[in-house]
Amino acid sequence: MMSAGTPLEGELVRMIETTGPIRLDRFMALCLGHPLHGYYMSRDPFGRAGDFTTAPEVSQMFGEIIGIWCMQCYDIMGRPEAFDLIELGPGRGTLMIDLLRAVRALPDFLTHLRLRLIETSPLLRTLQEKALESTAVPVTWHETLDDVPQGPSLIIANEFFDSLPLRQFQRLAQGWAERVIGLREGKLQIGLVPQAFSPPPWAAAAKEGEVVEVRPSIEPWAFAVAERLTSHPGAALIIDYGHLVSAPGDTLQAVRQHGPVSIVDRPGESDLTAHVDFPALAHALRSAGAYTCAPLTQRAFLLDMGLELRVSRLSGHATEAEKRELALAAERLAGPTQMGHLFKAMAATSPGLPCPHPFRSNG
Ligand code: SAH
Repeated sequence: MMSAGTPLEGELVRMIETTGPIRLDRFMALCLGHPLHGYYMSRDPFGRAGDFTTAPEVSQMFGEIIGIWCMQCYDIMGRPEAFDLIELGPGRGTLMIDLLRAVRALPDFLTHLRLRLIETSPLLRTLQEKALESTAVPVTWHETLDDVPQGPSLIIANEFFDSLPLRQFQRLAQGWAERVIGLREGKLQIGLVPQAFSPPPWAAAAKEGEVVEVRPSIEPWAFAVAERLTSHPGAALIIDYGHLVSAPGDTLQAVRQHGPVSIVDRPGESDLTAHVDFPALAHALRSAGAYTCAPLTQRAFLLDMGLELRVSRLSGHATEAEKRELALAAERLAGPTQMGHLFKAMAATSPGLPCPHPFRSNG
Protein backbone atom coordinates (compact mmCIF):
# COMPACT_ATOMS: atom_id res chain seq x y z
CA MET A 1 0.00 0.00 0.00
CA MET A 2 1.12 3.57 -0.76
CA SER A 3 2.64 5.39 2.15
CA ALA A 4 1.61 8.84 0.83
CA GLY A 5 -2.10 7.97 0.60
CA THR A 6 -4.73 9.68 2.72
CA PRO A 7 -6.04 7.90 5.86
CA LEU A 8 -9.35 7.33 4.07
CA GLU A 9 -7.53 5.82 1.11
CA GLY A 10 -6.06 3.20 3.46
CA GLU A 11 -9.53 2.44 4.83
CA LEU A 12 -11.01 2.12 1.36
CA VAL A 13 -8.23 -0.17 0.12
CA ARG A 14 -8.77 -2.46 3.13
CA MET A 15 -12.53 -2.45 2.57
CA ILE A 16 -12.20 -3.37 -1.10
CA GLU A 17 -9.63 -6.07 -0.35
CA THR A 18 -12.08 -7.61 2.11
CA THR A 19 -15.45 -7.25 0.40
CA GLY A 20 -14.73 -6.37 -3.24
CA PRO A 21 -15.34 -3.24 -5.32
CA ILE A 22 -17.62 -0.63 -3.76
CA ARG A 23 -20.46 1.26 -5.41
CA LEU A 24 -20.07 4.97 -6.16
CA ASP A 25 -22.83 5.97 -3.75
CA ARG A 26 -21.00 4.27 -0.88
CA PHE A 27 -17.68 5.71 -2.02
CA MET A 28 -19.16 9.21 -2.18
CA ALA A 29 -20.84 8.87 1.23
CA LEU A 30 -17.55 7.75 2.80
CA CYS A 31 -15.42 10.42 1.08
CA LEU A 32 -17.71 13.21 2.26
CA GLY A 33 -19.13 11.85 5.49
CA HIS A 34 -16.73 9.26 7.03
CA PRO A 35 -16.87 10.12 10.75
CA LEU A 36 -13.09 10.59 11.05
CA HIS A 37 -11.75 11.18 7.57
CA GLY A 38 -14.73 12.51 5.58
CA TYR A 39 -14.18 15.70 3.61
CA TYR A 40 -16.85 17.75 5.40
CA MET A 41 -16.01 16.34 8.82
CA SER A 42 -12.63 17.88 9.25
CA ARG A 43 -12.29 21.08 7.27
CA ASP A 44 -13.67 24.43 6.17
CA PRO A 45 -13.66 23.97 2.40
CA PHE A 46 -14.97 27.38 1.38
CA GLY A 47 -13.44 30.51 -0.09
CA ARG A 48 -10.19 31.46 -1.75
CA ALA A 49 -7.99 29.52 0.67
CA GLY A 50 -10.28 26.47 0.48
CA ASP A 51 -11.41 24.30 -2.39
CA PHE A 52 -14.46 26.05 -3.83
CA THR A 53 -16.55 29.20 -3.54
CA THR A 54 -20.33 28.99 -3.26
CA ALA A 55 -22.80 31.71 -4.23
CA PRO A 56 -23.30 33.07 -0.67
CA GLU A 57 -19.50 33.40 -0.40
CA VAL A 58 -19.40 35.38 -3.67
CA SER A 59 -21.69 38.16 -2.44
CA GLN A 60 -24.07 39.14 0.36
CA MET A 61 -26.62 39.89 -2.38
CA PHE A 62 -27.32 36.17 -2.82
CA GLY A 63 -28.53 35.57 0.74
CA GLU A 64 -30.34 38.92 0.83
CA ILE A 65 -32.34 38.04 -2.29
CA ILE A 66 -33.26 34.70 -0.74
CA GLY A 67 -34.39 36.65 2.35
CA ILE A 68 -36.69 38.75 0.17
CA TRP A 69 -38.03 35.55 -1.41
CA CYS A 70 -38.69 34.14 2.08
CA MET A 71 -40.65 37.22 3.19
CA GLN A 72 -42.91 36.78 0.18
CA CYS A 73 -43.46 33.11 1.11
CA TYR A 74 -44.24 34.08 4.70
CA ASP A 75 -47.15 36.14 3.34
CA ILE A 76 -48.30 33.29 1.09
CA MET A 77 -48.23 30.98 4.15
CA GLY A 78 -50.62 33.36 5.95
CA ARG A 79 -47.98 34.84 8.31
CA PRO A 80 -47.98 32.04 10.92
CA GLU A 81 -47.35 33.04 14.55
CA ALA A 82 -44.49 30.56 14.78
CA PHE A 83 -42.54 28.85 12.02
CA ASP A 84 -39.26 27.07 11.34
CA LEU A 85 -36.69 28.55 9.02
CA ILE A 86 -34.69 25.50 8.03
CA GLU A 87 -31.44 25.39 6.08
CA LEU A 88 -30.00 22.15 4.74
CA GLY A 89 -26.18 22.20 4.76
CA PRO A 90 -25.55 25.82 5.82
CA GLY A 91 -21.75 25.74 5.20
CA ARG A 92 -20.22 28.70 7.02
CA GLY A 93 -23.62 30.21 7.82
CA THR A 94 -23.03 33.07 5.39
CA LEU A 95 -26.32 32.73 3.47
CA MET A 96 -28.28 32.73 6.74
CA ILE A 97 -26.57 35.88 8.08
CA ASP A 98 -27.34 37.75 4.85
CA LEU A 99 -30.90 36.40 4.78
CA LEU A 100 -31.53 37.50 8.39
CA ARG A 101 -30.27 41.00 7.56
CA ALA A 102 -32.74 41.30 4.66
CA VAL A 103 -35.76 40.11 6.66
CA ARG A 104 -35.36 42.88 9.25
CA ALA A 105 -37.70 44.75 6.89
CA LEU A 106 -40.50 42.51 8.19
CA PRO A 107 -40.23 42.44 12.02
CA ASP A 108 -42.99 39.78 12.36
CA PHE A 109 -40.91 37.37 10.35
CA LEU A 110 -37.94 37.77 12.67
CA THR A 111 -39.89 37.51 15.92
CA HIS A 112 -41.84 34.40 14.85
CA LEU A 113 -39.06 32.26 13.42
CA ARG A 114 -37.01 29.47 14.93
CA LEU A 115 -33.85 28.68 13.05
CA ARG A 116 -33.11 25.00 12.38
CA LEU A 117 -29.80 24.11 10.80
CA ILE A 118 -29.32 20.63 9.34
CA GLU A 119 -25.62 19.90 9.45
CA THR A 120 -23.51 16.77 9.92
CA SER A 121 -20.11 18.37 10.22
CA PRO A 122 -19.11 19.27 13.80
CA LEU A 123 -16.54 21.72 12.48
CA LEU A 124 -19.04 23.54 10.26
CA ARG A 125 -21.55 23.60 13.13
CA THR A 126 -18.99 25.52 15.18
CA LEU A 127 -18.45 28.01 12.36
CA GLN A 128 -22.21 28.44 11.97
CA GLU A 129 -22.60 29.03 15.68
CA LYS A 130 -19.92 31.73 15.58
CA ALA A 131 -21.43 33.38 12.51
CA LEU A 132 -24.88 33.53 14.12
CA GLU A 133 -23.67 34.61 17.57
CA SER A 134 -24.67 38.23 17.08
CA THR A 135 -28.22 37.45 15.94
CA ALA A 136 -30.90 37.14 18.58
CA VAL A 137 -32.82 34.35 16.84
CA PRO A 138 -33.17 30.95 18.55
CA VAL A 139 -31.10 28.29 16.72
CA THR A 140 -30.90 24.52 17.01
CA TRP A 141 -28.85 22.02 15.03
CA HIS A 142 -30.16 18.71 13.71
CA GLU A 143 -28.68 15.70 11.92
CA THR A 144 -31.62 15.29 9.56
CA LEU A 145 -34.87 17.00 8.66
CA ASP A 146 -36.81 14.20 10.36
CA ASP A 147 -35.45 15.40 13.72
CA VAL A 148 -37.25 18.76 13.41
CA PRO A 149 -40.76 18.75 14.97
CA GLN A 150 -43.49 19.34 12.35
CA GLY A 151 -44.77 22.89 11.87
CA PRO A 152 -45.03 25.66 9.28
CA SER A 153 -41.68 25.97 7.57
CA LEU A 154 -39.46 27.66 5.05
CA ILE A 155 -36.72 25.38 3.80
CA ILE A 156 -33.58 26.56 2.00
CA ALA A 157 -30.93 24.35 0.39
CA ASN A 158 -28.04 25.82 -1.59
CA GLU A 159 -25.47 23.35 -2.94
CA PHE A 160 -26.76 20.64 -0.66
CA PHE A 161 -28.35 18.08 -2.97
CA ASP A 162 -25.26 17.90 -5.24
CA SER A 163 -23.31 16.32 -2.39
CA LEU A 164 -25.79 13.47 -1.89
CA PRO A 165 -24.42 10.11 -3.08
CA LEU A 166 -25.37 8.76 -6.50
CA ARG A 167 -24.90 5.68 -8.69
CA GLN A 168 -23.72 5.59 -12.30
CA PHE A 169 -24.62 3.00 -14.92
CA GLN A 170 -22.94 2.74 -18.29
CA ARG A 171 -24.55 1.27 -21.38
CA LEU A 172 -22.31 -1.35 -22.97
CA ALA A 173 -22.87 -3.33 -26.19
CA GLN A 174 -24.12 -6.30 -24.17
CA GLY A 175 -26.18 -4.50 -21.50
CA TRP A 176 -25.68 -2.25 -18.48
CA ALA A 177 -22.73 -2.09 -16.10
CA GLU A 178 -22.32 -0.14 -12.86
CA ARG A 179 -19.34 2.11 -12.23
CA VAL A 180 -17.58 1.06 -9.04
CA ILE A 181 -14.33 1.70 -7.17
CA GLY A 182 -11.95 -1.25 -7.24
CA LEU A 183 -8.20 -1.79 -6.95
CA ARG A 184 -5.41 -2.02 -9.47
CA GLU A 185 -1.95 -2.81 -8.14
CA GLY A 186 -3.11 -1.73 -4.71
CA LYS A 187 -4.43 1.65 -5.89
CA LEU A 188 -8.02 2.85 -6.12
CA GLN A 189 -9.38 2.70 -9.63
CA ILE A 190 -12.76 3.28 -11.29
CA GLY A 191 -14.11 0.07 -12.80
CA LEU A 192 -17.26 -1.46 -14.25
CA VAL A 193 -19.23 -4.49 -13.12
CA PRO A 194 -22.13 -5.96 -15.12
CA GLN A 195 -25.36 -5.04 -13.38
CA ALA A 196 -29.06 -5.51 -14.03
CA PHE A 197 -30.53 -2.01 -14.37
CA SER A 198 -34.00 -0.80 -15.32
CA PRO A 199 -33.27 2.67 -16.64
CA PRO A 200 -35.76 5.50 -16.06
CA PRO A 201 -37.80 6.21 -19.24
CA TRP A 202 -35.59 9.14 -20.36
CA ALA A 203 -32.52 6.88 -20.22
CA ALA A 204 -33.94 3.91 -22.10
CA ALA A 205 -32.54 5.26 -25.38
CA ALA A 206 -29.03 5.89 -23.98
CA LYS A 207 -26.35 5.05 -26.54
CA GLU A 208 -23.48 2.65 -26.05
CA GLY A 209 -20.86 4.24 -23.80
CA GLU A 210 -23.23 6.77 -22.26
CA VAL A 211 -23.51 7.10 -18.49
CA VAL A 212 -26.82 7.37 -16.65
CA GLU A 213 -26.86 8.78 -13.10
CA VAL A 214 -29.49 7.90 -10.52
CA ARG A 215 -29.63 9.24 -6.97
CA PRO A 216 -31.85 7.17 -4.66
CA SER A 217 -30.32 9.08 -1.71
CA ILE A 218 -32.35 12.14 -2.70
CA GLU A 219 -35.60 10.40 -1.78
CA PRO A 220 -35.48 10.50 2.02
CA TRP A 221 -34.71 14.25 1.84
CA ALA A 222 -37.39 14.97 -0.77
CA PHE A 223 -39.92 12.94 1.22
CA ALA A 224 -39.04 14.73 4.48
CA VAL A 225 -39.46 18.12 2.75
CA ALA A 226 -42.78 17.02 1.25
CA GLU A 227 -43.98 15.66 4.59
CA ARG A 228 -43.49 19.09 6.17
CA LEU A 229 -45.17 20.89 3.29
CA THR A 230 -48.18 18.58 3.28
CA SER A 231 -48.72 18.77 7.06
CA HIS A 232 -48.34 22.56 7.53
CA PRO A 233 -48.10 25.60 5.24
CA GLY A 234 -44.64 26.12 3.85
CA ALA A 235 -42.28 26.49 0.93
CA ALA A 236 -38.85 25.23 -0.07
CA LEU A 237 -36.16 26.73 -2.27
CA ILE A 238 -33.53 24.45 -3.76
CA ILE A 239 -30.57 25.87 -5.69
CA ASP A 240 -27.82 23.73 -7.16
CA TYR A 241 -25.72 22.65 -10.12
CA GLY A 242 -28.07 20.72 -12.27
CA HIS A 243 -30.12 20.17 -15.37
CA LEU A 244 -33.63 21.24 -16.31
CA VAL A 245 -34.13 18.16 -18.49
CA SER A 246 -32.99 14.66 -17.46
CA ALA A 247 -30.30 13.35 -19.83
CA PRO A 248 -27.42 10.87 -19.85
CA GLY A 249 -23.99 12.23 -18.86
CA ASP A 250 -21.24 11.74 -16.28
CA THR A 251 -21.35 14.83 -14.02
CA LEU A 252 -19.51 13.43 -10.99
CA GLN A 253 -16.58 15.69 -10.17
CA ALA A 254 -13.94 15.98 -7.51
CA VAL A 255 -12.75 19.52 -6.76
CA ARG A 256 -9.67 20.54 -4.83
CA GLN A 257 -8.18 24.03 -4.55
CA HIS A 258 -10.61 25.38 -7.15
CA GLY A 259 -9.77 22.82 -9.84
CA PRO A 260 -11.00 19.39 -10.94
CA VAL A 261 -9.09 16.28 -9.84
CA SER A 262 -9.76 12.56 -10.29
CA ILE A 263 -12.39 11.22 -7.89
CA VAL A 264 -9.90 8.61 -6.63
CA ASP A 265 -7.14 11.16 -6.06
CA ARG A 266 -6.57 11.68 -2.31
CA PRO A 267 -10.08 10.65 -1.19
CA GLY A 268 -11.37 12.62 1.78
CA GLU A 269 -9.35 15.65 0.71
CA SER A 270 -11.48 16.80 -2.19
CA ASP A 271 -15.13 17.72 -2.53
CA LEU A 272 -17.32 15.40 -4.57
CA THR A 273 -20.27 16.80 -6.43
CA ALA A 274 -22.66 15.70 -9.16
CA HIS A 275 -25.40 17.64 -10.93
CA VAL A 276 -28.90 17.53 -9.50
CA ASP A 277 -31.49 16.06 -11.86
CA PHE A 278 -34.22 18.65 -11.16
CA PRO A 279 -37.04 16.72 -12.90
CA ALA A 280 -36.18 13.67 -10.73
CA LEU A 281 -36.16 15.83 -7.59
CA ALA A 282 -39.51 17.40 -8.58
CA HIS A 283 -40.93 13.95 -9.18
CA ALA A 284 -39.86 12.74 -5.73
CA LEU A 285 -41.37 15.84 -4.08
CA ARG A 286 -44.64 15.54 -6.00
CA SER A 287 -44.94 11.82 -5.41
CA ALA A 288 -44.96 12.60 -1.68
CA GLY A 289 -47.65 15.27 -2.01
CA ALA A 290 -45.83 18.59 -2.39
CA TYR A 291 -46.54 21.07 -5.19
CA THR A 292 -43.53 21.94 -7.33
CA CYS A 293 -42.83 24.95 -9.51
CA ALA A 294 -40.91 24.70 -12.76
CA PRO A 295 -37.15 25.08 -12.19
CA LEU A 296 -35.41 28.23 -13.49
CA THR A 297 -31.79 29.07 -14.16
CA GLN A 298 -30.07 30.86 -11.27
CA ARG A 299 -29.72 33.79 -13.68
CA ALA A 300 -33.48 34.03 -14.28
CA PHE A 301 -34.19 33.61 -10.55
CA LEU A 302 -31.76 36.33 -9.44
CA LEU A 303 -32.60 38.83 -12.20
CA ASP A 304 -36.35 38.41 -11.68
CA MET A 305 -35.82 38.87 -7.95
CA GLY A 306 -34.14 42.24 -8.58
CA LEU A 307 -30.39 41.53 -8.58
CA GLU A 308 -29.72 44.66 -10.65
CA LEU A 309 -31.73 46.82 -8.28
CA ARG A 310 -29.71 45.43 -5.36
CA VAL A 311 -26.46 46.22 -7.16
CA SER A 312 -27.52 49.82 -7.71
CA ARG A 313 -28.84 50.21 -4.11
CA LEU A 314 -25.58 48.97 -2.63
CA SER A 315 -23.56 50.99 -5.17
CA GLY A 316 -25.25 54.15 -3.87
CA HIS A 317 -22.99 54.30 -0.80
CA ALA A 318 -19.97 52.56 -2.33
CA THR A 319 -16.50 53.62 -3.45
CA GLU A 320 -15.52 53.10 -7.10
CA ALA A 321 -13.62 49.92 -6.17
CA GLU A 322 -16.62 48.57 -4.25
CA LYS A 323 -18.90 49.37 -7.20
CA ARG A 324 -16.66 47.40 -9.51
CA GLU A 325 -16.68 44.52 -7.03
CA LEU A 326 -20.50 44.54 -6.85
CA ALA A 327 -20.79 44.46 -10.64
CA LEU A 328 -18.27 41.61 -10.83
CA ALA A 329 -20.12 39.64 -8.14
CA ALA A 330 -23.44 40.06 -9.96
CA GLU A 331 -21.81 38.84 -13.15
CA ARG A 332 -20.32 35.87 -11.36
CA LEU A 333 -23.68 34.88 -9.83
CA ALA A 334 -25.86 35.46 -12.89
CA GLY A 335 -23.55 35.60 -15.94
CA PRO A 336 -24.54 32.94 -18.49
CA THR A 337 -20.97 31.63 -18.76
CA GLN A 338 -20.42 31.75 -14.98
CA MET A 339 -22.90 30.45 -12.38
CA GLY A 340 -26.01 31.85 -14.09
CA HIS A 341 -26.84 28.95 -16.36
CA LEU A 342 -24.98 26.11 -14.65
CA PHE A 343 -27.05 26.54 -11.48
CA LYS A 344 -30.80 26.10 -11.30
CA ALA A 345 -33.39 27.14 -8.74
CA MET A 346 -36.59 25.30 -7.94
CA ALA A 347 -39.40 25.92 -5.46
CA ALA A 348 -41.88 23.56 -3.83
CA THR A 349 -44.91 24.56 -1.75
CA SER A 350 -47.70 23.10 0.32
CA PRO A 351 -50.51 21.76 -1.85
CA GLY A 352 -52.92 24.56 -2.74
CA LEU A 353 -50.45 27.43 -2.23
CA PRO A 354 -49.50 29.50 -5.29
CA CYS A 355 -45.99 29.35 -6.74
CA PRO A 356 -43.98 32.19 -5.19
CA HIS A 357 -42.52 34.78 -7.59
CA PRO A 358 -40.60 34.32 -9.91
CA PHE A 359 -41.62 30.67 -10.24
CA ARG A 360 -44.52 29.29 -12.21
CA SER A 361 -46.38 26.06 -11.77
CA ASN A 362 -45.09 23.17 -13.86
CA GLY A 363 -48.60 21.82 -14.17
N1 SAH B 1 -25.03 25.92 1.60
C1 SAH B 1 -23.63 26.27 1.83
C2 SAH B 1 -22.71 25.04 1.88
C3 SAH B 1 -22.75 24.08 0.74
S1 SAH B 1 -21.63 22.72 0.95
C4 SAH B 1 -23.18 27.29 0.82
O1 SAH B 1 -23.88 27.50 -0.16
O2 SAH B 1 -22.11 27.87 1.00
C5 SAH B 1 -22.64 21.43 1.59
C6 SAH B 1 -23.09 21.57 3.01
O3 SAH B 1 -23.95 20.46 3.33
C7 SAH B 1 -22.00 21.53 4.06
O4 SAH B 1 -22.39 22.37 5.13
C8 SAH B 1 -22.01 20.05 4.48
O5 SAH B 1 -21.39 19.82 5.70
C9 SAH B 1 -23.48 19.76 4.48
N2 SAH B 1 -23.86 18.35 4.28
C10 SAH B 1 -23.46 17.54 3.28
N3 SAH B 1 -24.06 16.33 3.37
C11 SAH B 1 -24.89 16.39 4.44
C12 SAH B 1 -25.81 15.46 5.05
N4 SAH B 1 -25.98 14.25 4.56
N5 SAH B 1 -26.49 15.88 6.14
C13 SAH B 1 -26.34 17.13 6.64
N6 SAH B 1 -25.48 18.04 6.10
C14 SAH B 1 -24.76 17.68 5.03
